[in-house]
Amino acid sequence: MTQNGRILFVDLRTPHRELESELVAVFKSALETGCFVGGPMVDEFEREYAQFCDTKYCIGVGSGTDALRFALIASGVQAGDIVLTVPLTFIATAEAISQAGGRPDFVDIDAQTYTMDPEKLRQYLETACVFDEKSGRTIQRVHRRPVTAVIPVHLYGQTADMDPILELAARYNLIVIEDACQAHGAEYFSSVENRWRKAGSMGRAAAFSFYPGKNLGACGEAGAVTTNDEASTDKIRMLRDHGQRQKYHHELEGYNGRLDAIQAAILRTKLHHLPDWNRKRREKARHYKELLSSQADVVTVPYEPSWARGVYHLYVIRVQNRDQLQAHLAQANIASQIHYPTPIHLQKAYVGLGYKQGSFPVSEKAASEILSLPMYPNLELHEQERIVEKVSELFSIQDISRWHAGLHPASLS
Ligand SMILES: *Cc1c(COP(=O)(O)O)cnc(C)c1O
Repeated sequence: MTQNGRILFVDLRTPHRELESELVAVFKSALETGCFVGGPMVDEFEREYAQFCDTKYCIGVGSGTDALRFALIASGVQAGDIVLTVPLTFIATAEAISQAGGRPDFVDIDAQTYTMDPEKLRQYLETACVFDEKSGRTIQRVHRRPVTAVIPVHLYGQTADMDPILELAARYNLIVIEDACQAHGAEYFSSVENRWRKAGSMGRAAAFSFYPGKNLGACGEAGAVTTNDEASTDKIRMLRDHGQRQKYHHELEGYNGRLDAIQAAILRTKLHHLPDWNRKRREKARHYKELLSSQADVVTVPYEPSWARGVYHLYVIRVQNRDQLQAHLAQANIASQIHYPTPIHLQKAYVGLGYKQGSFPVSEKAASEILSLPMYPNLELHEQERIVEKVSELFSIQDISRWHAGLHPASLS
């Protein structure tokens, strides 16, 4: 979407304009019934979203962060437990661990997929931990605390390599919670099960965010947990509603983390369009890949392994001179963003964990080279062409200046 000559990074207006009459009807029906929190609209969305994710249950909550936090608490993470995730993610993944009482620890990512490197997870479990046969627990040697869960993040809309992660988790008795906040509808081909599996259906539970900019976005804040586990479902339903099953009978200390009815009904309306929107995102990704193929020596496009069918929540390229490219695009009125510029272990909020520059080199290098280009279902081909033209322009200018400096690209190699 181009607005005043500027290519926007996300387009939060067109889909709502297209669905306006349906969305307004939802709002009117909420006003008429007076049903704003919980109720049939939430139940219906939960049923349909569980079906979409191939799970038995879906529990609507207030945000993706709530979803992660409740999934962790419900799975039994105890105060002081270590929960593993990746450094290259949104801060909420780590916040949910701390807020559930756990201590976040990190496993570096794979340089090509940007998701958890199963080999690094294996190394961590084999070298930094000992498995205590008697209790069946994996104990981290330095902190002398049990590692009880792992959160692979399906970053940018593509699942982590789940087969080896699930296998390691089973061997070391770890609960797997998927952070599927960017991966609504993404699929993973499991060689173990010889079938495609939906993001959100592979761990003990999974967290989804419906923040407006996500592939499935509310018109406000919303999230959900998906799971096949009845006990977790039961507990999360209590956690989101002050620990009560029955009004004013609080079995445990919970939260105000409910999904509001208007958001649920809006999400349900939009869910019917999600497969089409995801298909369009994949098509845009294909266009970018083709258009950028002439720059293959300087621009790394997203890598989609044969086991992944991503939904391109973000389209992330990688270049050496990222800041320069971002400035060049901005000058041409093209928006871009960085997801994420600082890995979690280097954030001020987590200095207490004691990590430093160099602790997770793959994440750190990626964070300095990645750039997210505009990506949404109704991004136009001519807009993509304009974007790639500007990307190519920067590199051809550089080629020319290298030429003048007597450094023709051919002589560099
Ligand atoms: C968006 C997001 C979250 C948090 O979701 P909210 O709805 O904003 O709380 C968590 N993890 C990842 C990877 C996300 O992208």
